[in-house]
Amino acid sequence: MFGIQVNSFEVKNFFAQKIGKSTFVWKIIEFLQGVSYSIDYLLFYKFRLFKKASITEINIEFVSYCNLRCILCSLDHEKTKVRMTAETLKHFFEDLLTDDRFSNLKTIHLYNAGEVLLHPKLEEMLDVIKYFKNFAKEKNIHFPKIALLTNATILDEENSNILIRSGILDNIRFSMDGGNKEKFEEMRLRAKWDDFVKNVTTFCELNKKSAKPIPTGIITLVEYENKLNTKWMSEEFKKLLNMVNGYELRYAHNWGGEVEIEELKNKNKKGFKVGCSLLMHQLVLLPNGDVTVCCADLNSKGVIGNILNDKLYAIYQKPLRVEMLRKFMKGKKKEIELCKDCETF
Ligand code: SF4
Ligand code: SF4
Repeated sequence: MFGIQVNSFEVKNFFAQKIGKSTFVWKIIEFLQGVSYSIDYLLFYKFRLFKKASITEINIEFVSYCNLRCILCSLDHEKTKVRMTAETLKHFFEDLLTDDRFSNLKTIHLYNAGEVLLHPKLEEMLDVIKYFKNFAKEKNIHFPKIALLTNATILDEENSNILIRSGILDNIRFSMDGGNKEKFEEMRLRAKWDDFVKNVTTFCELNKKSAKPIPTGIITLVEYENKLNTKWMSEEFKKLLNMVNGYELRYAHNWGGEVEIEELKNKNKKGFKVGCSLLMHQLVLLPNGDVTVCCADLNSKGVIGNILNDKLYAIYQKPLRVEMLRKFMKGKKKEIELCKDCETF
């Protein structure tokens, strides 16, 4: 791809860790992201110089519900609980692997809203992916990396073994917010720190003993009053961060404007922002086959199609999505209902 390939949220957090919160540097980063977006928009959409899709990542939501009530999450826990079927997942992969226009796809993330391990037929779902991964290898077809993110609250020995045995994961990450036990339990409502530590430790031990250990990581949301480093964190928190292969410290984003975050309130008031890297590079497959435009849309407000009715490439090209891309290009973010209050990407 011609633009910056990682999403702008990751770019900003990377620089926040390295250089702090200098407004001047942010302006330069946002400017460069705007340039990158503009190039991609012109090449992939305006002049259609490439048949290949601009999509580099697809999130798959196995279930629409979660057992936690994290204070910085926008997931509506009242919405209908839906689980993806193995048939829907098969349908998706059949479409994906027979369409080489998706060969820019680098990663499939097994997470979105909802906790992936809550799927009652987890092993069967992973077997579907394994089947297509092997199929792609046999036929020499490009197959993306598979990444999983879990809150680890039900990552017991049995689930750990299912994940490790599946042999399909290229990395697994655990969500561990806060910086100490008290903050963790305050931010990740319903999660118990001691259980979390036990589960992650057990997973890491089992994983280490396996023939091909899965690379592990932790994502930690840090409150804005703290720095994006580990100096102020508790020893037990740091111990867990050091147990995995890598960790990422982040400030929270506002989930398309659905979560109020004081520190983000005054950002981007003008509503002029060129581009959203998620809109450009991501699609999200929901449990019922619906496809939405980005992973910030936890409550399915940006659905543009359904893979049971349309080919994935046709959904990718839906006028609704292309119009959103065009409006971002013109700096008219405020005219997009889904995006107008989204302050991060
Ligand atoms: S942030 Fe993740 S773990 Fe927490 S409630 Fe939302 S979906 Fe569940
Ligand atoms: S809600 Fe809109 S601006 Fe926010 S990440 Fe999604 S597409 Fe981008």
